[in-house]
Amino acid sequence: MSEQKKYDVIVIGGGIVGLMLVAHLGRAGFKVALVERSSPLFPLPDVRVSAINRASRQAFRTLGLWSSLESTRLTPYENVLVWAEGGDEKILFESRELGEPNLGYVIENNVMKKALWEYLPTFKDVDCFSPAEYIHLERQGNGGFQVQLQDGFCLTSALIVGADGANSKLRAKFAGVAPQEWGWSHNQKAIVAMVRTELPHEMTARQRFLKSGPLVFLPLWEPTLCSIVWTNSTQQADTWMAASPLVFCKALEEAFQSQLGSVELLTERFSFPLVLKHAKRYCEEGIVFIGDAIHTIHPLAGLGLNLGIQDAVCLAKVLIDAREKNHPLGHVADLRRYERFRKGPNWGTSLFIESVKWFLGETPPIFLQQRALRFAHHFSLMKHFFARQALSV
Ligand SMILES: Cc1cc2nc3c(=O)[nH]c(=O)nc-3n(C[C@H](O)[C@H](O)[C@H](O)COP(=O)(O)OP(=O)(O)OC[C@H]3O[C@@H](n4cnc5c(N)ncnc54)[C@H](O)[C@@H]3O)c2cc1C
Repeated sequence: MSEQKKYDVIVIGGGIVGLMLVAHLGRAGFKVALVERSSPLFPLPDVRVSAINRASRQAFRTLGLWSSLESTRLTPYENVLVWAEGGDEKILFESRELGEPNLGYVIENNVMKKALWEYLPTFKDVDCFSPAEYIHLERQGNGGFQVQLQDGFCLTSALIVGADGANSKLRAKFAGVAPQEWGWSHNQKAIVAMVRTELPHEMTARQRFLKSGPLVFLPLWEPTLCSIVWTNSTQQADTWMAASPLVFCKALEEAFQSQLGSVELLTERFSFPLVLKHAKRYCEEGIVFIGDAIHTIHPLAGLGLNLGIQDAVCLAKVLIDAREKNHPLGHVADLRRYERFRKGPNWGTSLFIESVKWFLGETPPIFLQQRALRFAHHFSLMKHFFARQALSV
């Protein structure tokens, strides 16, 4: 007979967002099970990196993990330079103009995952099942859930959290939440890789908006090391993925107007299809979703993970609050509170990014776009507003 284990909360998916939630709940004394499909291996360097804002830094700080991230490897960036195809106007965002030491940090995803993963054994009431996947997940008569894992464990809890990413199988299973979503495919793919540049990045993130999609060079821990995110139509991206490193680098240099001189490809390339998606509902009785499982946005402003981390922090706070009021765990009224808190920022950010993408990349007349860029560059109030939004201060 399979071993049965009882928890307060079962979290399906141990990406950074799921791990962040488990860490915050573990710290608050909840009995939590994490079920993650892949093995806990975090090789470095990791081609997947993320720009992290102040709110996400605070989430790590609350756990006491920020200093360990700082001592591992992260890159603060001080400036962001943005320009568009078809003109010479540029906007430069500078941290010193805002009175901030930097505008954010670029961190390898595996550095964050490892720090969170190694933190979880601190809590005796947190169990991590990994690599593990559920083969059966169903609601019981008492409203709670039973989760059967492949390796024979049977877990039960009053609340299930879906943190299983953009292709959430769990959301697809729960018809009440699943089919209602808003969005579209961008018909684009983003190629990511690490490159060595001829010229130093000078702690500056640079982004050029092309008609075919934005191209960003994020600064990494060595002066001439950058992470690129290059968005193209699906067909063009597939062509660049198949091209030889030499051909790829030449095209990359050209698309970037050789701003950092010649470019050498250091790693494998990975490509990701881009979809804008937003779930209309985040929860129902006993089940709730966070992170990419409920919203995916274009990576041009580097905010998707930051939103997911705030979902995790917010849900943990709502559950702690509900426990203090002696509410039953997974009560839909509490889960709806979380949904209300997070929907505004998540929707707002999606719409903001779509507007930037449209205005700088796609359809507006070039003279209008260039004038707007010039205006934005010289109108510091506006610049500060955008920078503070991205920084989340
Ligand atoms: C090219 C690109 C660049 C980006 N850059 C940035 C950036 O700079 N800054 C930023 O904030 N955001 C960025 N994003 C967005 C960010 O990567 C995502 O928002 C974030 O990774 C979502 O995290 P998540 O934990 O919700 O999902 P995921 O990272 O997808 O994690 C889901 C986890 O669930 C597990 N899982 C799935 N199904 C199951 C199952 N059935 N059972 C058990 N486990 C399961 C998976 O193995 C995985 O570990 C970028 C995205 C792209 C595509």
